[in-house]
Amino acid sequence: MRFSQLYAPTLKEAPSDADLVSIKLLIRGGFLRKVAAGIYTFLPLGLKVLKKVEEIVRQEMNAIGSQEILMPIIQPAELWHETGRWDDYGPEMMKLQDRHERFFTLGPTHEEIITHILRNELKSYKQLPFSLYQIAMKYRDEIRPRFGVMRSREFLMKDAYSFHDSWDSLDDTYRDFYCAYSKILERIGLDFLVVEADSGAIGGNESHEFNVLAKYGESTLLYCDCGYAASDEKAEYRFELREQQGESGTLESVATPSSRTVEEVSSFLGVNAGDIIKSLIYKGRKGYFIVLIRGDEELNESKLKAAMNDQTVVMATPQEVMELLKVPTGFVGPVGLPEEIRIISDYSIKGLKNAVCGALKEGYHYRFVLPGRDFEIDEWLDLKMVRPGDSCPKCGTPLKSAKGIEVGHIFKLGTKYSEKMNGYITDARGRNSPYIMGCYGWGVSRTIGAIVEQLHDKDGIIWPLETCPFHIVVTAVNIKDESIARTSLEIYDFLKSKNFDVLLDDREISPGMKFKDADLIGIPLRITVGRKLAEGVIEIKSRTEAKPVSVIIDNGYEALSLEIERALSAYNPKSILKLEEE
Ligand code: ATP
Ligand code: MG
Repeated sequence: MRFSQLYAPTLKEAPSDADLVSIKLLIRGGFLRKVAAGIYTFLPLGLKVLKKVEEIVRQEMNAIGSQEILMPIIQPAELWHETGRWDDYGPEMMKLQDRHERFFTLGPTHEEIITHILRNELKSYKQLPFSLYQIAMKYRDEIRPRFGVMRSREFLMKDAYSFHDSWDSLDDTYRDFYCAYSKILERIGLDFLVVEADSGAIGGNESHEFNVLAKYGESTLLYCDCGYAASDEKAEYRFELREQQGESGTLESVATPSSRTVEEVSSFLGVNAGDIIKSLIYKGRKGYFIVLIRGDEELNESKLKAAMNDQTVVMATPQEVMELLKVPTGFVGPVGLPEEIRIISDYSIKGLKNAVCGALKEGYHYRFVLPGRDFEIDEWLDLKMVRPGDSCPKCGTPLKSAKGIEVGHIFKLGTKYSEKMNGYITDARGRNSPYIMGCYGWGVSRTIGAIVEQLHDKDGIIWPLETCPFHIVVTAVNIKDESIARTSLEIYDFLKSKNFDVLLDDREISPGMKFKDADLIGIPLRITVGRKLAEGVIEIKSRTEAKPVSVIIDNGYEALSLEIERALSAYNPKSILKLEEE
């Protein structure tokens, strides 16, 4: 490709709404253009990288025997009514109507479609196991589209679904996908962490997320050198009982006129946040309940939903609390609650002897509260948001934390969809039973953002070899110089014949601008044909090395070939980052 003919409009400045370095560089480098919030066009360079990522994912899927299909993006509402997700999926679902006023969705995911296709045709356990995948656009009306293609409303996903007649068989396939996902990230050459994850609204009983490590990743990960790693939505810890000092006093009501929050009550009464019982009213399928947690801890709603096995759980609104208990939220507490309200408590309440909690009366709190004496707890659960420094649930060592970008997510779905959508087969014993499913998502377009977020420096992107738009750029310093132009073209043709993806920078602009563009776009090797050509010398510069290497080309391109080979085998996008950190 000649740069003079390539549509890669590079920019000096990123648009002001580009909110992360990766999207800034992808726009400045001419890879992407924004069309609307969370909706992007991939320009030639962007599409080239996208196709390369797509191909790596496709190869690793094919390598584990998964078969590629293509399902429709537009899905009829009826299928989503069958699983109840037309209503449950929430406002992220893009909905539309056809001319007959029938409802459809632009698919945010494809469990319903795949289960529907197979339910009419899968008959026997003998046809199992197998898995199908597709690489296609997905639509989610994200509440906050941001970070470019990393949280967009239209995005390319690889989604796969597997079908089994036993849990052992699902475990085997789940392991295959786990390994394939690790291999994708190893091939691209990214630092990543696989964590245990919450399965949320998709359902199922086991799930892992694949996270590319990055300073500004949206996911918080907790991990330990012993191998334990989990997303913060899921992370557990080893509870250690911390008894409050002294004897328990007698329960006493105290006026706290305008103190509602933990901070206000703790400064008004001169107690630690850790001495306060935070009391929160929640609403789920079975009605209202109260959740207690120590004032210095944060409640993890994902753990609450998972523990209650109820994804509809939400915090009650102040109006709802007022109607229910006739008291503003800041004065709610467990002492003297109506019996029908279940009391669920996080372990952190254990060991409190002289605690403070709301008195169920406006403007008052209780002091010297003793759980067990002043109120009964119906259920103890681990509901706290685990923090770095908390003890690892496996080995007790303090946990560490990191930020990550979730690029892949795998789930053991079980029979959730097959049962609801009548996906039954005859099993080995002749019984009619629902098939067991797994599902496996990979964010293909998000991967591009993740690569750039991890691999860049102040000058631009540093693409790994597997996903770079071009391996080599041949920079003709002055294209009007006949000898430079001829040699540049010869080298370009030579490299093409060696199957390199090569760009010839034949534009009539200054060499400085050409060098800047090459660094911004992130091409691994730059071959400069310039003034030294008169002495038979050209230069090769790796994107990750500070200085160019001179190569003599008077006897053909043998020396050039060798130097390219050396530079490519030494090429390591991460090396430059380590240098920068020092
Ligand atoms: P997140 O928690 O980031 O919203 P998710 O759990 O909703 O992700 P899945 O439903 O598991 O995501 O989708 C599979 C993969 O699709 C994710 O791992 C991610 O890589 C990608 N993905 C999900 N939402 C988006 C989005 N809005 N933009 C780009 N990629 C996305
Ligand atoms: Mg999501």
